[in-house]
Amino acid sequence: MNRRSFAQSVGSAAILSAVSGSSTLSQNLTVSKAGKVMAIAAHPGDGMFTMGATVAKQIERGGGGVLLSLSIGERGAPKNIPVQQYGAMQRSATENAVRLIGAEAIFLDYSDAEIPFNEESSLRVCDVIRDQRPEVVVTHWSGSWHKDHQNCHLIVRDAIFYAGLETLTRERPAHTVSKIFYAENWEDAANFVPDTYIDIDSVCDKWLQACDFYPMWRGQTGFFRYNDYYTSLSIMRGCLSGFRHAVTLMSDLNQRNQRLQSL
Ligand SMILES: [Zn+2]
Repeated sequence: MNRRSFAQSVGSAAILSAVSGSSTLSQNLTVSKAGKVMAIAAHPGDGMFTMGATVAKQIERGGGGVLLSLSIGERGAPKNIPVQQYGAMQRSATENAVRLIGAEAIFLDYSDAEIPFNEESSLRVCDVIRDQRPEVVVTHWSGSWHKDHQNCHLIVRDAIFYAGLETLTRERPAHTVSKIFYAENWEDAANFVPDTYIDIDSVCDKWLQACDFYPMWRGQTGFFRYNDYYTSLSIMRGCLSGFRHAVTLMSDLNQRNQRLQSL
């Protein structure tokens, strides 16, 4: 079966070697110029487990990558580790993980479980976007049971709007993000419909090694089997897209329009 047949077999999904901020998505294998990807997550684990492979792939292709965490996820602490100490562990795991994949980490200081969706948080993220100037942003899908994830989704949408608004004066000049994608996350699964498959095979080992810096990845802090879930998901998504390993994204509804003169 060729790539086109694979693409047809997964519906209207785009099969990509990396995410692009400039090319038109198509059902064929698309290889495009690598731009900078910014992953924006409520908690550092979400950033690395669900968006890290996409960032790693972009960097491997000569693009840039940055992970912005709105909190350090300190309240995921198990009973035997004080919350503050666990927060420090999360931060250190993230710094080690991004170093391994060649990305940069930025942390905001909102309290885990209390990330607010308001003008202040949206403008803070807007300022980071204006400073980093990514072509593509990947963040949480809205269909989450977790309030921080839901708020992150809303914050990012407003932040991207503010970042591109020329008439909004901030310290840094306006910057337009070309594309927004939502990551596949076990906690954000309600109505998540992937339409973009990315080949991550060449960075898969490195990404899994990066994830392994987090105690939660190895099941040391809770019940969920992150390692098993995201490792097997990459294989399953690879089966559906004709790659050995793949991750999926859901593109923002507003960027799905295609302007064609003929089919
Ligand atoms: Zn989370």
